[in-house]
Amino acid sequence: MHKIKSIHKLECEAWKLPGFDMKRPVLIAGPCSAETEAQTLATARVLSAQGVKLFRAGLWKPRTRPGAFEGVGVEGLKWLQKVKKETAMFTGTEVANAQHVFEALKYGIDFLWIGARTTANPFAVQEIADALRGADLPVLIKNPINPDLELWIGAIERIHSAGIRQLAAIHRGFSTYGKNDYRNHPQWLIPIELHRRYPNLPLLTDPSHIAGNRMLIPQVCQQAMDLNFSGLIVETHINPDEAWSDAAQQVTPERLLEIVQSLHYRNASIGDTPRNLLDDLRMQIDDIDNQLIDLLSERMKISKEIGHYKLQNNITILQSRRYNEIIRDRNEKAMRKGVDPAFISKVFEHIHEASVLVQNEVMNARNNESNKQDRL
Ligand code: PEP
Ligand code: MN
Repeated sequence: MHKIKSIHKLECEAWKLPGFDMKRPVLIAGPCSAETEAQTLATARVLSAQGVKLFRAGLWKPRTRPGAFEGVGVEGLKWLQKVKKETAMFTGTEVANAQHVFEALKYGIDFLWIGARTTANPFAVQEIADALRGADLPVLIKNPINPDLELWIGAIERIHSAGIRQLAAIHRGFSTYGKNDYRNHPQWLIPIELHRRYPNLPLLTDPSHIAGNRMLIPQVCQQAMDLNFSGLIVETHINPDEAWSDAAQQVTPERLLEIVQSLHYRNASIGDTPRNLLDDLRMQIDDIDNQLIDLLSERMKISKEIGHYKLQNNITILQSRRYNEIIRDRNEKAMRKGVDPAFISKVFEHIHEASVLVQNEVMNARNNESNKQDRL
């Protein structure tokens, strides 16, 4: 086992893919999973005709729940070879252990990425790093599923320490509890900080896994470009609705082209109109507001459940002891956090009022129903 020191400056080289230059935006596209040879090649052909040079396809799929499609494995490596032969695109796939690395290298895969679930596991990342020693190809490291910048950097350091210099980070958002607008919250602050610490490390955004649905993809792409990130990796499928994994978030190659052409590419150089601190701060505020709304929506759902419970158990909605407790507890917390308690009281008065209203609706729905029954 090699002793790895943390690194202040990453040595990064431009990717050595003949004929490909790393001009912004670097674009990687392809299906979440290679499903069949026909689907892989059909997607690749259209993407290539549109000028895409880097093709992605997952072969080993780490799935949250057992029973979902776990990828075609080694068989798909031959399909990627065919893609390369026929279209001259460079191909890449996700590796989650040493065996995947050996197989992918054996079949001449051009670039690799480490998935979010793997980045969160230093043992797995070290195993991959050891398997990569001596190899020279681009390795892209996705952020871990949890919002932990140090863990992300740790994984990048492990791969760097194995001698890999063609590096990049992929920002794919961070998971949160409950259903939100985003599948994985972008928390832009984290990739911004990574970029600040390692300005020479290319940083791509994966709008597909952030958004989790097609609608939000253009907006996430634009935000990444406004932050001067290096590029995008977008899940693209010849027939997205029929995809065996991540169907809701994949786009057709034609739609991808529309999205990429609709983006504004602002000039990053000083002297023009550079992105400024205010933009960064506003983006952080937007981020936090989105999280607040998601949380409030979760809170209201729970209030509704409480409404049902009170109805079934014949309890009044207003429980003043509980209400006083909430206000006292939130005030104390506000004080500890250096937030004006009067402000927090006001916020929670409104929240409580909304919660009472929701519970009222629950009770009255039943009342209205029984009134109707009585009248019949
Ligand atoms: C993927 O790229 O298909 C994937 C599994 O992504 P992530 O590791 O970001 O969840
Ligand atoms: Mn996917």
